[in-house]
Amino acid sequence: MSTSPADLVREFHRTFGLDARSTPTEVDPELAAHRGELLAEEAAEVAEVAVEGPLDRLAHELADVVYVAYGTALVHGIDLDQVIAEIHRANMSKLGPDGQVARRADGKVLKGEHYRAPDVSSVLRHQGWIPAAQGGASDPTA
Ligand SMILES: [Mg+2]
Repeated sequence: MSTSPADLVREFHRTFGLDARSTPTEVDPELAAHRGELLAEEAAEVAEVAVEGPLDRLAHELADVVYVAYGTALVHGIDLDQVIAEIHRANMSKLGPDGQVARRADGKVLKGEHYRAPDVSSVLRHQGWIPAAQGGASDPTA
């Protein structure tokens, strides 16, 4: 059995008849708001235990955030693994060609001259997203 969050969450949504799309799509505002609220609830639960723990509770709430985030991506038809890969690519491009990390005096990692910002729009377009400005529309079946 796969342990990939995307696969697990897709199984959950299928089993319980929750929304799932395979192409990036703007969804009904009520559904979009509901997903945002679910994620905010889980993020608040992380904040509650972030400092004092206990550690098992923190692990649980972190997993809930990831699970709900993947679910929200699935509801919107976003392949989140590909988006995360793009964010990772951009973050890694902060490294200099010599493999050295450039830091400011206070320790903040600087974006070096080889830094290339994430292009999430491009990733979604490759997944089939048509932005509203180009004639994309909300999913009428949502
Ligand atoms: Mg929770």
